Amino acid sequence: MSIIGLSLEQLKNKIKDAGMQPFVAGQLWDWIYKKNKLTFEEMVNISKQNQLKLKEVIEISPFKAVELLPSGEGRAIKLIITLKDNKKIESVILKERDYYTLCVSSQCGCPVDCKFCLTGIVGFTRNLEVDEIIGQVLVANSLGYHIGNLVFMGMGEPMLNFDNVFEAIDFMTSLDTMGMSKRRVTVSTSGFIKNIQRLIDEKRYINLAFSVGHANPEKRVRLMPIEKKNPIMEVATKLHEYQSLHNRKLTLEYTLIDGMNEDDQAIRELARLAKYLDAKVNLINLNPHHKIPFKPVSTKVLHRARVFLEREKVPVTIRFRKGDDISAACGQLGESHLAPKTAS
Ligand code: SF4
Repeated sequence: MSIIGLSLEQLKNKIKDAGMQPFVAGQLWDWIYKKNKLTFEEMVNISKQNQLKLKEVIEISPFKAVELLPSGEGRAIKLIITLKDNKKIESVILKERDYYTLCVSSQCGCPVDCKFCLTGIVGFTRNLEVDEIIGQVLVANSLGYHIGNLVFMGMGEPMLNFDNVFEAIDFMTSLDTMGMSKRRVTVSTSGFIKNIQRLIDEKRYINLAFSVGHANPEKRVRLMPIEKKNPIMEVATKLHEYQSLHNRKLTLEYTLIDGMNEDDQAIRELARLAKYLDAKVNLINLNPHHKIPFKPVSTKVLHRARVFLEREKVPVTIRFRKGDDISAACGQLGESHLAPKTAS
């Protein structure tokens, strides 16, 4: 196991057990979490002798390898990460105006099986550990992309890895570590009633994004099988309860799919849901992939949906594609899993 995610006390004990002075733990902590350095050689105030000792007894990175894949238009960089057990995950660095967003993964693959998402097609392998979640942010920071905004919209359903995801968030937002702002962390979910209840019970008030698919239950189930056990009507009631407890705005993520959920009636139902939840809507045109059996909508249809929502006084944004040339856009993560299968 890597030392990422250990408390300072735990790190001091580890260092002591290795026969070094506890202050080395403080130096190490500072280099990793405050100065974004992940190799001992860069930690210049640690003596050469201690650097060698640390190398023998400690692993900083929870990853075996990290490969960078920049998009042609330069606004997205995909990180293809090989975990210690040789499984692969992907996360995406998105360039904003004056900071970077990291689209972080919470699971290796995903068991939820949304029909418009490549990660769903890849299937599920395992939950990510706390160090593997924090490690994605540290790697991005260490490469010089200072992450100011974190969205759990990479591979996996964060609510199905609840303990590890929230332990990682607590760690990264602590002033003792990376001091990320809680307001700049968003967790996306396809809607698990039990886990939204857990957010309520544990008083965890965060920016939540709910992936709608379709606001009509009968149509939603064709796109998102989760509808069978977590009906959207009950999810909406639970979200309404959750939202009434804090003042962070809910986002409804709506992937527009040609012939499936872009007609006037579907957008009307979406507007009704948004009004009930006092939520803003983020429209995303489907990111096409040969493994996904759907097509995106035309620009005209995308803008028609936006205008309709605006007329209904629903705050709406369009998320433009970034990095679809490297399969780094929303719903496209998992390409590195599929590549070997495609080749065989
Ligand atoms: S959209 Fe999210 S929850 Fe659905 S399959 Fe993809 S990663 Fe999983």
